[in-house]
Amino acid sequence: MAKEEMKFQAESKELLDLMINSIYSNKEVFLRELISNASDAIDKRRFEALNSDGKIQLVENPEIWIIPNKEERSLTIKDDGIGMDKEELINNIGTIARSGSKEFVEKLKNAKDNENVDIIGQFGVGFYSAFMVAKKIVIETRSIHKDKGYRFESDGSESYSIEEINKDEIGSSITLYLKDDDEDEKYDSFLDYYTISYLVEKYSNYVKYPIKMNQVEKVNKKDENGKDIENEYEEKVVEKQLNSMVPLWKKNKKDVKDEELNEFYKNNFHDYQDPLFSLFLNVEGMISYQGLIFIPSRIRNEVYNRDEAGLNLYAKNVFIMDKCKDLLPHYLYFLEGVVDSSDLNLNISREMLQENKNIIKIRNNIENKLISALKELKDNDKEKFKKIFDLFGINLKYGIYESYGSKNDLLKDVIVFKSLNHNDDYIDLKTYVNEMKENQKNIYFACSSSIEEAKLLPEIEKFKKDGVDVLLCDKNVDEFTLRTLKEYDKHEFKSVSEFNENDLSEEEKNKLETLNATHKREIDELTNALKGKVAEVKFSTKLVDSPVALVSKDGLSLNMEKILNNIEGNENKINSEKILEINPDHEIFKKLTSIKDENEIKDYANVLYNEALILSGLDISNKEEFFKSLNKILTK
Ligand code: ADP
Repeated sequence: MAKEEMKFQAESKELLDLMINSIYSNKEVFLRELISNASDAIDKRRFEALNSDGKIQLVENPEIWIIPNKEERSLTIKDDGIGMDKEELINNIGTIARSGSKEFVEKLKNAKDNENVDIIGQFGVGFYSAFMVAKKIVIETRSIHKDKGYRFESDGSESYSIEEINKDEIGSSITLYLKDDDEDEKYDSFLDYYTISYLVEKYSNYVKYPIKMNQVEKVNKKDENGKDIENEYEEKVVEKQLNSMVPLWKKNKKDVKDEELNEFYKNNFHDYQDPLFSLFLNVEGMISYQGLIFIPSRIRNEVYNRDEAGLNLYAKNVFIMDKCKDLLPHYLYFLEGVVDSSDLNLNISREMLQENKNIIKIRNNIENKLISALKELKDNDKEKFKKIFDLFGINLKYGIYESYGSKNDLLKDVIVFKSLNHNDDYIDLKTYVNEMKENQKNIYFACSSSIEEAKLLPEIEKFKKDGVDVLLCDKNVDEFTLRTLKEYDKHEFKSVSEFNENDLSEEEKNKLETLNATHKREIDELTNALKGKVAEVKFSTKLVDSPVALVSKDGLSLNMEKILNNIEGNENKINSEKILEINPDHEIFKKLTSIKDENEIKDYANVLYNEALILSGLDISNKEEFFKSLNKILTK
């Protein structure tokens, strides 16, 4: 094959320009990026070998080598990884098809010199970062599936070249020809043993394969008796391993510094922010394993992509696979971490994992341990728990709902809610129950699209007046969760928007009876006017300031109805029977009793109905009709 010249894809080109002329001060991270790529490539080769039924041989002791060449001013990073063929070179290196790359370009343009955020790690454009220090990059690589190797060369301008080469060893070596020194940067320092070993320790200490480098040491010359000859030295090449590799999860929590933990997390899980929370697991018993679990400090979108979730799995200290989903229940997919078990087979495959009893045991154990740790945090470190819950509370609530009640006991004490009486603090259900009024039977909740709107629901007014607390819900999943929980400590959950005759006191029942008898005419006329819109019009004892409220007859709240109807692809739209509740003590109702004209009553009915719709977070049913009625009343 002759040498082929190819052009970089447009976005890659822009990124290259920016990298080359980078104002980004943290140039040293290029080494971390290349080492991570090398380590990933070795992982991939391992994985293929383990799943090849013996067709592909495992490399006994894979290594990553860093080879500086002072004469050429070049630095090579060499690995025993999976290698790349021609297509992979073009697709992985010649193209950045990442959706994030545009955004990255913008960020890089705006980056300040002293910016702390690691924007390269954030966007996964690792290879390109090498152009911050290199004027030319040569990749020599041979894929595990090919007999031939390829040489890629680029000076970071418009194009790159690829040609076929003979290469005996599988794997890649990436050679950077360093830029000429300038005022800002002495690129030469990246050839220096001490700089390199410092950078490896800083960024890549726990890379699980040895990172090696030769160091030239001056040693005393020896005489024939093996004794040092004074003042006579010779140079000797000594092989050094730069990373400690001791898996952090094998260590005792108290021996690990926070910085170490944070670096480990960022390196291994490709995040640019420190984690919020970490948990060491060391379990001995029917099944033994060690693990280290992290809660990220931001919602990582990738996690919602099912392929990206899971924990990294090791067996007896040997890497098996990353992103093993079977180690987590679905609702905990936001976790990152590693699990290392001595009770698993080295050649366990992805397919076998799902069925594996030990994996299921580990998954259940991790789930229990994490939830207990979170409960403890809830009681002992409110600030931290709040941060976690703000980000991932929705997942925990989802856990209750998606397990159809089977995890109620596990999860009911780890979820918290905003409430009417607690302003913006979260409370747990236990606190709610402890603070219940003497005769209060139920736990009340109100759902709307925001906490503020939930507080404004007319149905909540009486609770406010009586000082009865109400859980305020603003997430789609909340109501599903509470309905799955059904009760806490024998107290049923009840939506404030549910019409519930059994909740009424004797006094209230009597009041309603009298009202119904004396105002039958008004109720009948309103019911008539709203035919087809509501099933019934009733007096309410719950309203204080609002004249009306709309509730559903069958218990499904209007908020839930809205959520269900908004689910994409849901063809069977729900339209539950609604009740318009009237506040008998409100001025508007008093006014209504004096109106005799049927058409005027219709206008009032129409305006009140729409007011109730809006307060329930729904849309006005018919704008034209609504404004006509409103204007008629206004001009009267
Ligand atoms: P990322 O590593 O975040 O995917 P990079 O730009 O660093 O982004 O690398 C792009 C791709 O090039 C990698 O995903 C991988 O497929 C391939 N690659 C890079 N370095 C190597 C290597 N040393 N061996 C094999 N493949 C590599």
